[in-house]
Amino acid sequence: MRAYGVGEFVRTRMLSELRVMNGLERHADQRQRFLQVAAATVSVAMATLGLLLAVNLAVRHLISIGDIALYVAAASGVQGGLAILAGAASHLVRAHGVYARYVELMDTAKAQVSQSVSTSVPRLTRAIVFDDVWFRYSPNLPWILEGLSLVVPAGMFTGIIGLNGAGKSTIIKLLNRLYEPTEGRILWDGIDIRTFDVRDYRTHLATMFQDYVCYDLTLRENIGLGDVSSIDDDDAIGAALEGAGLKGAAESLPLKWETMLSRIFSSGDGGQSSGVRLSGGEWQKVAAARTMMRSNVDVMLLDEPTSGLDATAEAELVGKVVAMRAGRTTAMISHRLFPVVHAERIAVIDHGRLVEEGRHAELMSRPDGLYSTLYRAQMGTSSGAGAPEVDTVRAGGR
Ligand code: ADP
Ligand code: MG
Repeated sequence: MRAYGVGEFVRTRMLSELRVMNGLERHADQRQRFLQVAAATVSVAMATLGLLLAVNLAVRHLISIGDIALYVAAASGVQGGLAILAGAASHLVRAHGVYARYVELMDTAKAQVSQSVSTSVPRLTRAIVFDDVWFRYSPNLPWILEGLSLVVPAGMFTGIIGLNGAGKSTIIKLLNRLYEPTEGRILWDGIDIRTFDVRDYRTHLATMFQDYVCYDLTLRENIGLGDVSSIDDDDAIGAALEGAGLKGAAESLPLKWETMLSRIFSSGDGGQSSGVRLSGGEWQKVAAARTMMRSNVDVMLLDEPTSGLDATAEAELVGKVVAMRAGRTTAMISHRLFPVVHAERIAVIDHGRLVEEGRHAELMSRPDGLYSTLYRAQMGTSSGAGAPEVDTVRAGGR
């Protein structure tokens, strides 16, 4: 904010939003007060009328003075009761509003898993197949996957490439069943993944999301979350650190694996053990290590795992993943071609469709193909510093 001098802009925006909120609140208050005054006026008028009537009757000796006293007590009792009733009704209206939101949320959660019929999940032996999958994030948003037919063969290292916005990360979200396809099916050895119990199904996957979470926890915990049952297993954590190329860096942290990767907590000991902040690339390695805690799962999915790494670290990480996952199903998504050029199978996604697939050499044999075009664009200036990423070739995507 200082560098761009946007303080005044943000302050003005905040004040104008506050003014709108205060205005709405004032309006609601005024309405309520008006209703209160109206109700009180009616109630006082009725009571007064009743009292006059009672006095009139008493003057004509039709009722006694004691009856007037009784009337006054009864009237105030009824008034008090009505006030409590009105308060309870307004409370009920407000509670109903909140409850409706609660029910809506719970229904959304239920709808997500309701299709499960709990077939047990077999080990993947043939392939994961996207069978004419159409997907959009909501009915009023554009299609992201437009009839995607994609095969991720079991036991192979598959690269999935495409420009920004092509729908690559969406594929990962669908595979994790964070969303369901709008149309079409995703098949696991021929079985629709919707028929699996979602929790059981997810234990067969290890996913490194593109927007991984940086938890305000220690290094050990940040990695151990990949497999909570092994969070205290030093061998497992060490292997994951090693796999992500983070072992050396971890040793140089002030409290090694127990270092807090956050500075939002006070250490209370004069700052001796206060947390550290990692760089973007280091966090990406932590996320990779978290995924590697599950290196024995059926299927590993890595979404742009090296986008923030330097060239050396990128090559090292890809090499380790390939070695670690030899003979097991692994899919690596990338917008840069380097991490996937050696993949046993490369799928090229464009506008939510599979446009090309094959090995590097096969794809390069089509000079007009998207793959070879991207390859030339990325390698063309790669002799000097700052080779352009595919992003810049067609900025913005769709
Ligand atoms: P890629 O990973 O290939 O760069 P994504 O799959 O992340 O692309 O996104 C594809 C398109 O879907 C983008 O245009 C993006 O704006 C849109 N998109 C992604 N996530 C959401 C979401 N949660 N809601 C609405 N649109 C989304
Ligand atoms: Mg993405």
